[in-house]
Amino acid sequence: MRVLLVGGGGREHALALGLAGDPSVEQLIAAPGNPGIAALAELREVNPTDPSAVAALAVEVGADLVVIGPEAPLVAGVADAVRAKGIPAFGPSAEAAGLEGSKTFAKEIMIAAGVPTARAHTCTDAESTAKALDDFGPPYVVKNDGLAAGKGVVVTEDRAAALRHAEECGRVVVEEYLAGPEVSLFVVTDGEAALPLLPAQDFKRVGDGDTGPNTGGMGAYAPLPWAPPSLVDEVMADVVHPTLAEMRRRGTPFAGLLYVGLALTAAGPRVIEFNARFGDPETQVVLALLETPLAGLLHAAATGALAAHPPLRWRDGAAVTVVVASEGYPAAPRTGDVIAGADRAGVIHAGTARRAADGALLSAGGRVLCGTATGPDLAAARDAAYALVRGVELAGSHHRTDIAAAAVEGRITLPG
Ligand code: AMP
Repeated sequence: MRVLLVGGGGREHALALGLAGDPSVEQLIAAPGNPGIAALAELREVNPTDPSAVAALAVEVGADLVVIGPEAPLVAGVADAVRAKGIPAFGPSAEAAGLEGSKTFAKEIMIAAGVPTARAHTCTDAESTAKALDDFGPPYVVKNDGLAAGKGVVVTEDRAAALRHAEECGRVVVEEYLAGPEVSLFVVTDGEAALPLLPAQDFKRVGDGDTGPNTGGMGAYAPLPWAPPSLVDEVMADVVHPTLAEMRRRGTPFAGLLYVGLALTAAGPRVIEFNARFGDPETQVVLALLETPLAGLLHAAATGALAAHPPLRWRDGAAVTVVVASEGYPAAPRTGDVIAGADRAGVIHAGTARRAADGALLSAGGRVLCGTATGPDLAAARDAAYALVRGVELAGSHHRTDIAAAAVEGRITLPG
């Protein structure tokens, strides 16, 4: 199989590792890729959000499967354009990607499908926002209605800050605060059949102890030793299948990766958000544990053949990833600094670039790279991931020191 992977972040480096490790993959092409992916795939230039450019590249390279990593190309219709050329694409149509592209649309689907989620109001002016904030009370949750790369959400006790965020965004969803540990569940689906991957937990806030602003994600681990054993079955029955059925009923089936972000509240699991693609950095840990060949799985989902796919196999043990971010991230990341020590197995590139003059590795984004490791248990995986991070030198960089710590120490408790 010839596989074209679209994207160039940490998630795509993790996908590239999985795809390149599948014996059915003869050739892996990545566009635009990154310096880490370059070790696994042939890199091609492309504007990932230009549907006709990506479709033309898929034809040119003779792709048997196109895997679309990030949300922006999906919302732009890249999967539709690839499928229009008769090539299987892993990723939902532009319309179905609205589950991520519009918080209002996602709420509408959840309500229609009877999916448990936070109560919410869509607001477009200061008056309706203020009313919604007072209706729900603190802590206040205000979400940008459109795509915001995981950074459009403000959760705060400060009513004035909540109002300011709403004013900056224009159109927002104000919702009830959900208290309880968070879980990310990835589900591979062809629109009808659906296979859950291992639940993972990510760390959204920039600082230790969940302090500071939200980010794209500062680390993750899987599996979750504290999660109730019935969790995945319950979420498949109460969330995933009703959502997929509602999308089919509307004539816009969702095929690809449905990312269910949940809070385990005293009243049971509640959906915080849907995404239409693999999450970053949870992908790094989930795929590190997946033994089933990845390209075969994604091809089955892309061709409507998932019902016939064998059950997934997982490695024993656990995986942890720790993100190294550049100075100033998330507010004003500094780029262009030289990185040393990144050339080791387990170092996944997210925002890196090669300097043309001498090939030196430079920081090129807010989240620069992550140290990803597996181990016989969570404690061992965590130690190994932090050993990788300690080996990386990047001026001004920062990382959280408490990724997976509460889980290792048994400090996560379920409410109720
Ligand atoms: P989202 O982009 O919707 O995933 O939101 C980013 C982060 O904000 C989530 O991972 C949560 O930590 C937090 N968040 C979002 N919505 C809520 C909510 N209703 N209650 C509590 N926390 C929330």
